[in-house]
Amino acid sequence: MYKYLILSVCFLFLFNCKSSEEFTGFSYDPPNVTDTQDKKVHPQHRRIIGAGNPVVWVSNNFESARLSDFYAINDSTFEVFIEPENAPINNSPWYAFKIWSDSTRSAVIRLNYNNARHRYVPKISAGDSTYTLDMNKAVYDSASKTLDFQVNLSKEPITVSAQPISNTKSFDDWLMKMSQHSYASISEIGVSKLGNPIKELTINETDPNSKAGVLIIMSRQHPPEVSGYYAARYFIEELISDSELSKQFRSEFIVRSFPLINVDGVINGHWRHSAAGIDLNRDWENFNQPETRAVKDALLPLLQDPMKTVYYGIDFHSTNENIFYPIEQSVKTFPDDLTQRWTPFIQQDNESVKFVTEEFDTTSPISKNWIYKTFGADAVTFEMSDELPLETIEQVGRSAARSLMKLLLDEKSKVQ
Ligand SMILES: [Zn+2]
Repeated sequence: MYKYLILSVCFLFLFNCKSSEEFTGFSYDPPNVTDTQDKKVHPQHRRIIGAGNPVVWVSNNFESARLSDFYAINDSTFEVFIEPENAPINNSPWYAFKIWSDSTRSAVIRLNYNNARHRYVPKISAGDSTYTLDMNKAVYDSASKTLDFQVNLSKEPITVSAQPISNTKSFDDWLMKMSQHSYASISEIGVSKLGNPIKELTINETDPNSKAGVLIIMSRQHPPEVSGYYAARYFIEELISDSELSKQFRSEFIVRSFPLINVDGVINGHWRHSAAGIDLNRDWENFNQPETRAVKDALLPLLQDPMKTVYYGIDFHSTNENIFYPIEQSVKTFPDDLTQRWTPFIQQDNESVKFVTEEFDTTSPISKNWIYKTFGADAVTFEMSDELPLETIEQVGRSAARSLMKLLLDEKSKVQ
């Protein structure tokens, strides 16, 4: 499989790979990642930097930006130096910056991640339009691990980012839209390390006098994982919709959703960690961090409520493929093996998309395992491919919601 990845990465760069290296995958965890006591974080210096003649300017002075330094290498090539919030860290180099020039000109941008590997294909926004860079026109040097590509510059800044920028403003706008439905409500369940609100979107149209099932949804523990976050949003939009299936589902199930958990990481353009320098999805045993504690404290009262039963949990992420990480079949959950029964429907409804499944035991301190250990429910880590087009993410997110609603209604009817 690694060989295949090396080949496909080289193919992507159209034989621009100057040397080959062992590809270790994207989900590699650095040592001691489960020690979730605060670590030192290097704050990003927000500023505008100019280099070259005529001057090319860059700025990281906006939400979700990440740019550490900027140099002119020669008249036409400009290096953007990108560093993570702290290290060691998983290889997810997020970058986002604005770039412009005093005069209309073309320039080669070199992305240098300080020895981390390139992961995200650049997204370039100019005016109202955003396009994904054609990697056939980029040059990746796997020895220096830098990516070169050409852009046209003028006085009007363009934005270059690892993924489409989807910041807290866009989240709040989306939450407002969702909460126009009488059965949807927004609540602040706590604050992050830096004091930013962590928000829950609850969907509840159940009869308070009848027993209700509960579906837990989490997303964006890892700030750059925008494709998974979009899938979560479309998934929730389908649950909230006016379809007969969704109405029926909402009469039986409450949805407790936490779509943007690592709010400080999103604001500060982090590669993966929180403002405490911690991978939040390794803190679901020790709860050293305010973000994981807030979600836990919001959900724990369900244990004392005889009218509510947690049926399932989904934690949305992104990686280099579409992959489900279910709890392994030998572990008895309620409902049992729901993920294994659900994912074939997702594949069937999205024939052109390749999905992979890899089961895990429940030892690691991640949110999915906490849901199982706390409520006995089944749960899944739902990973969307980094570069999946938005229309496909919407199709997958919505169809997955429909097939899950049917399965959960079926499960609930069995126990009534
Ligand atoms: Zn992730």
